[in-house]
Amino acid sequence: MELLFEKSRVGRSCSILPVCDVPDAPLPAEVRRKTPPRLPSLDENEISRHYNALAKRSFGVNDGFYPLGSCTMKYNPKINEEAASLRGFTDIHPLQSAATTRGALKVLDLCGSYLRELSGMDAMTFQPAAGSHGEFVGLLLIKAYHKARKDAARTKIIVPDSAHGTNPASAAMAGFSVVNIASTNNGYVDIDALKVAAGPDTAGLMLTNPNTLGLFDPNILEITDIIHKAGGLNYYDGANLNAIVGIVRPGDMGFDVAHLNLHKTFSTPHGAGGPGAGAVGCKAPLAPFLPAAILPHPVLRSDAAGLSHRQSESIGRVRAFHGNFLVVVRALAYLLSLGREGVSAVAENAVLNANYMMARLKERFDIAPGAAYAKGSPCMHEFVVSLENLKAEKDISALDIAKSLQDMGMHPPTMYFPLIVHEALMIEPTETESKETLDKAVDALFALRERADSDPESLRSAPRFAVIGRPDEVKAARTPVVRYNFG
Ligand SMILES: *Cc1c(COP(=O)(O)O)cnc(C)c1O
Repeated sequence: MELLFEKSRVGRSCSILPVCDVPDAPLPAEVRRKTPPRLPSLDENEISRHYNALAKRSFGVNDGFYPLGSCTMKYNPKINEEAASLRGFTDIHPLQSAATTRGALKVLDLCGSYLRELSGMDAMTFQPAAGSHGEFVGLLLIKAYHKARKDAARTKIIVPDSAHGTNPASAAMAGFSVVNIASTNNGYVDIDALKVAAGPDTAGLMLTNPNTLGLFDPNILEITDIIHKAGGLNYYDGANLNAIVGIVRPGDMGFDVAHLNLHKTFSTPHGAGGPGAGAVGCKAPLAPFLPAAILPHPVLRSDAAGLSHRQSESIGRVRAFHGNFLVVVRALAYLLSLGREGVSAVAENAVLNANYMMARLKERFDIAPGAAYAKGSPCMHEFVVSLENLKAEKDISALDIAKSLQDMGMHPPTMYFPLIVHEALMIEPTETESKETLDKAVDALFALRERADSDPESLRSAPRFAVIGRPDEVKAARTPVVRYNFG
């Protein structure tokens, strides 16, 4: 596809401006640029076609089924967008006085209080711009907590092997060393291994529950207790709260700090890099270390709306003001339109949809870990199909199936994650899909399973209809070409 720069022709433009009737005010020479900016010149028609063509090449949640495990690609109600585009929210500046931005402060306060209630935490910040950013902040809170107690020996964070890849990365970035512990055959935290790992050098544990295998760990209270008794703190990776929102709370499971991806569970469109919000909630003992804290207790509040910008013990600013504010507006609109019962229904339907798909797919595919699901254990909001046997028997990989699904009008599931499952396809249907959509997706997967026997080559050469077939993924990840070479 030609870029705007390649379509550009000197002299083309799309603005017809009236002749300027005020005199020029020339800028001093030293602030003027030496060469004109390299901007493409196009007419409006070309620009509109260009962006339409780009939009047609992408696949979003509005185009079709998008069961991207762990990502919660749910339908984002348009009323959220309407709320976020109100001029009272878009045309304000964070440096305006509190007296003129009461509505915005109220949004932060109210959304913070709902999310505290849903997560079982005492205080909150909206500064982090992503889930991984929230993890980093949460770990710095844990670090600050131990430091304030002069407990310098706690340098290790325990992370189970089923964790999202961002967990060990965030722990390392925050200056901790990472202790990996294996999962049991059932996919749960190995309690004996945890007891061995926890000790006076443990700063904390990072856990997702339900984990990335879609399993809710029944030993969660014992797990968090082991860490607390060893003097550590528990971090809850709540990037994806879809299975438990309004049902159980990380705070009640023994967690001290958690991040919530508003751009997953709380219905902000995501993908392509943002904008998001990895809101971080924590228990009271960690609250003094928060950046831009949104605190519940009036005594702790630094201004009338309860938004404390500068706490003396804060880890410091991680982003400007209260982060991506309009994401918070969307989350609040979403929560208000759902109401208390609607929030729990999100989790109930997310779990129901995943179990429906898993029950049907079980007829022809292996669900991982077999040891847990063979016993008839339900999954939570997502589940993992393993194509290890298909790969061994027919040389058809998870990638082949994923690429073939693209030709069938659906977005592929998450592939090759979690790392502990070979040839993994991680499916998260979300609560906003109908039974008909789920049935179509299952039928598509059954049809592909059949083609693995009858016409395996067609799977290996998929996709046939996508704009990009099979790029060199390592090269695309390691050496992406993101700059245009003007030559
Ligand atoms: C998405 C996700 C993250 C990271 O969130 P980002 O906003 O992509 O940085 C962390 N943990 C889990 C379990 C996730 O699903």
